[in-house]
Order: sequence, then structure tokens, then C-alpha cells
Amino acid sequence: MKRVFSGIQPTGIPHLGNYLGAIRNWVSLQADHECIFCLVDLHAITVWQNPEDLRKQTRQQTAVLLASGIDPVGQILFNQSAVSAHARLAWIFNCVARLGWLNRMTQFKDKAGKDRENHSAGLYVYPNLMAADIMAYKATRVPVGDDQRQHIELANDIAQKFNHDYGVEFFGTIEAFVPPEAARVMSLRDGTKKMSKSDASAQSRIDMTDDADTIALKVRRAKTDPEPLPVSAEGLDGRPEARNLVGLYAVLAGLSVDQVLERHGGDGFGPFKQALTDVLVSRIDPIASETRRLLADTAYLDTVLRDGATRAGTMAEPIVSEVEKIVGFLK
Ligand code: ATP
Ligand code: MG
Repeated sequence: MKRVFSGIQPTGIPHLGNYLGAIRNWVSLQADHECIFCLVDLHAITVWQNPEDLRKQTRQQTAVLLASGIDPVGQILFNQSAVSAHARLAWIFNCVARLGWLNRMTQFKDKAGKDRENHSAGLYVYPNLMAADIMAYKATRVPVGDDQRQHIELANDIAQKFNHDYGVEFFGTIEAFVPPEAARVMSLRDGTKKMSKSDASAQSRIDMTDDADTIALKVRRAKTDPEPLPVSAEGLDGRPEARNLVGLYAVLAGLSVDQVLERHGGDGFGPFKQALTDVLVSRIDPIASETRRLLADTAYLDTVLRDGATRAGTMAEPIVSEVEKIVGFLK
């Protein structure tokens, strides 16, 4: 059985992009993989997090994952900082990765923008920690959204350089598993930007805890263009917002984009947005209400994470100890 590592930052409430691009695939991977699901709080503090919010969001994320169908007993679910192997291996990888490699990472460029000098060193070396997350377990498969492909390539570069520098065959190849549909859900305010927890506008995303009225309002306010929907997929070229909404509907309704346009081509956005709201609410509402129920029991959530951390630590410890021995640390 292949071992999977997946991480999500407890930086906010999980949104529809996280769900369609990541969480729902995690749920299906459980059937035939050994899965390690991680709330990556070390990654989260690469940008400022209010400590109280970080604690709250870690529980919120946990609740959404459980409500979405993650199995904390058959698989492992924990928060990253609770297993020291991540930080130890990341430091070693900081010394393996080259500055030139990190300079090419588009996520850093996107997040830091023009104000590069004022960002944390942690944000810059984030991909090295991500490589450590995966390799601390020798996981071979990493389900990610399209935005993370480049980081997986970097992780493979680090693995190869480590093997080469130390003359070992210790780390194998990691495979990015990008789901075929809805790999990238775009912002409701700007069809050229991905939906993101860190977007300042709450209107830009649909949270997995939104109630029906909030979903309806956000979809009504979603940016569109004045043209009616096209009758075939080619008609979506140059219309990023329309493409995003049609793509979302297709994934949620289990249809192809062309099938959606066969039904809705020629419609204005008014009726289409109503149909989209309906499929969104029917998917999100059960998850949102189960999340609320779980959040009322923080003791349970904390126990799930503690138990997961113990099991994750047991798995990572021998691997990272071996790396430390290879590097020459006196044990
Ligand atoms: P942040 O803005 O804080 O980076 P995020 O919205 O990008 O938050 P992450 O926690 O970084 O969320 O990512 C968790 C998972 O969700 C990753 O696998 C990532 O590829 C996926 N993901 C994030 N945003 C999207 C999106 N808009 N569409 C599809 N998948 C996404
Ligand atoms: Mg992200």
C-alpha cells in the first residue's frame, strides 16, 4: 500500500478550493492508501498568526476534516508541531537545498510580492519544510492542488541531492497526485487568482462552514461578465470568472463542462447562479453542520490530534534518526 502525506495550513477556515482540490481526494485515498494527514502549523507561522487564532483554527480545520470523512483511527491525523521530526529534518534540508532553487518558487513570489525584504525567512524556506514533512515518513504520494506541483519537484531535487551528497540511496521519488478535475478553484472576485484562505476578501471564497444564506449571497455577488453562458467549452476562453463558475458546477454536479453548457448555455448568470447555489448548499451543508457539532467538543478534537501525533512520531522517528546518522550527528 502506498504511503500518502497531505498537509493543510490551519490559517483560516477551509474553503471550497481546499475541499475540491484536496480534502475530498484525501477522503477517497483512504480506501487504498496508508494516509498521514497533517495540520501544518509550522508552515502557518511563516506569516504572522495570532496565537489564539492559530489554536482555534487548528481545531476548526480538524473538525472540517473529520466532518468531511477523514478517519482518525484507520489513518493518522495530527498537528505538525507536535512531532519534532519535521523541524529536525527541515533544518538538514535547509542545508541541502540551494538558494537558486528556492529563488524559482512561484508561491514565494506570489505571497511576498514586491515587498520581499519584509517577509520571514521561514516563508522563503517553506518548500524545504514541506519536503521534510513528506520524507520524514518516506511517503511516496502527495495529493496536492496544482499550486503545489513546483514544491514537489523541489522535494525530489532535495532527495536526489541528499542521496548524491551522502552517497546513499535513502530517499525515493515522490509523486504529486493532482486530481483531474477542479485542481484549481479560482477566487469569486477575480477569476485569474486562486481561491485562498489568505485573500483579504471573505467574499472571494466559500468556506466549508458557510450556511445556505451566506453561500447564496457570495454566489450572487460573485464577479461575472455581462454575456450569457456560452453553448460550448471554447466559449469560455477569455472569460475566467465564467469558466470558474461553470467548472465548479460541473464538479459538484458530476457533469462535464460541455454537459453543463448543453443545459445552461444561453442562460444569463442569474438563473445559473441559483442552480450553482443549490448544488453548493447540498454539498456543504452536511459538512458545515457536522463541523459545528464537533467544535462543541474541543476535548475530543484535542485527543484525536494527540493520538495522531503519537503514532506519527513513532513512524517518523526511526527515519529521521537514520538521516541524522547519515549526516554524521553523534547519537
Ligand atoms: P493560504 O492562502 O494560507 O496558503 P490556501 O488556501 O492556499 O491557504 P493551503 O492550506 O495552503 O490553503 O492548502 C491546502 C491544500 O489545498 C493544498 O493541497 C492546496 O494545493 C489546496 N488548495 C489551496 N487552494 C486551492 C484552490 N484554490 N483550488 C484547489 N486546491 C487548492
Ligand atoms: Mg496555500
